[in-house]
Amino acid sequence: MSEDFYDVLGVGRDADEAEIQQAYRQKVSEYHPDVNDDPDAEEKFRKIQKAKDVLTDEEKRQQYDQLGHDRYEEAEKRGGAGGGAGAGRGNPFGGAGGAGGMGDIFEQFFGGGAGRGQQRPQQGRDLRTHLTIDLEEAYEGVQKQVTVRRPERCPDCDGAGYPEDADVRTCPQCDGRGQVTQVRQTPLGRVQQTQECSRCGGEGELHSETCSTCSGQGQVREEATLTVDVPAGIRSGQTLRMEREGAPGDKGAPNGDLLVEVEVEPHPDFEREGDDLHHRHAVSFPQAVFGDDIEVPTLDGAASFDLEAGTQSGETFRLKGKGMPRLRRRGQGDLYVTVQVVTPDSLNEEQREALEAFAEAGGEEIDVEQGFFEKLKSSF
Ligand SMILES: [Zn+2]
Ligand SMILES: [Zn+2]
Repeated sequence: MSEDFYDVLGVGRDADEAEIQQAYRQKVSEYHPDVNDDPDAEEKFRKIQKAKDVLTDEEKRQQYDQLGHDRYEEAEKRGGAGGGAGAGRGNPFGGAGGAGGMGDIFEQFFGGGAGRGQQRPQQGRDLRTHLTIDLEEAYEGVQKQVTVRRPERCPDCDGAGYPEDADVRTCPQCDGRGQVTQVRQTPLGRVQQTQECSRCGGEGELHSETCSTCSGQGQVREEATLTVDVPAGIRSGQTLRMEREGAPGDKGAPNGDLLVEVEVEPHPDFEREGDDLHHRHAVSFPQAVFGDDIEVPTLDGAASFDLEAGTQSGETFRLKGKGMPRLRRRGQGDLYVTVQVVTPDSLNEEQREALEAFAEAGGEEIDVEQGFFEKLKSSF
């Protein structure tokens, strides 16, 4: 799999969001680490997520298209807090341009510079994961555990990146301001740019040691098991947001959220259409002729209804309120039962005689294939 986000998802560069979402779902089901034994599956899964995140965000996609893959990744790394894949909200370049040539390019593209002075601590980024449930669980609502590997603030340095007792000195490159200002001559005139100091990362201080637990990143990756409340009535493809369960933010800023995309597995007995369910139910010819009290499955136990005399095969009956609960609203959809009259593919002698008599009584002449009933008889 190539690195390019379009290749990762297998879509063209002009793909619209619906195409991207569809390609994403396809790939995710293929490479989900829970279903794929390939040792690289997790890595591929991560790439797929990333590609989708970028390509479905209009602003990020535009930047990606302009910069190309390598420069986009580079920019994102510089912008991220603590070296994760840390894109800030909305702007993947966060508050940093870094020093040097790359910074200049980004300034031109994104008209940066202004406002860089008042850096606010970045909120942590959102993380995504998947959860598959069955239709019964979607009907009842369910609590499920999801396990995510996510960055956490380093417990040993509390996210600082250096031990508490490390020696501190003022950063000589920015004189402790955390920013450097450059004046540049451009075809449009002189441009003054303020950028985060690359030496101290904007802190204005340098430390004699880095934290050995997190190698100075301030974050470590930990496995976390969380309980997700899946509400009754959820549909496939809907996303639940677990607030503040995403990646940690900068010091003083909140965590991002964890987005859980729910997939509802198809059910053998019911087809879902919005909040309605469809069920095909087999009845015998006499049942269809005489009518009967028949029992059909629902997600809430069996239900019975009156099959009217003279029902045709293919007729549909509505069982009001026997469908799926409406998500976060009162009420339920309906259950549509389509009746299918089953033609027997074998008859015993008594049945054959009765059916022949039935045909005769109706004045019907049936040209029975030679040997048909002999074949039937021999099978009993
Ligand atoms: Zn640490
Ligand atoms: Zn500095």
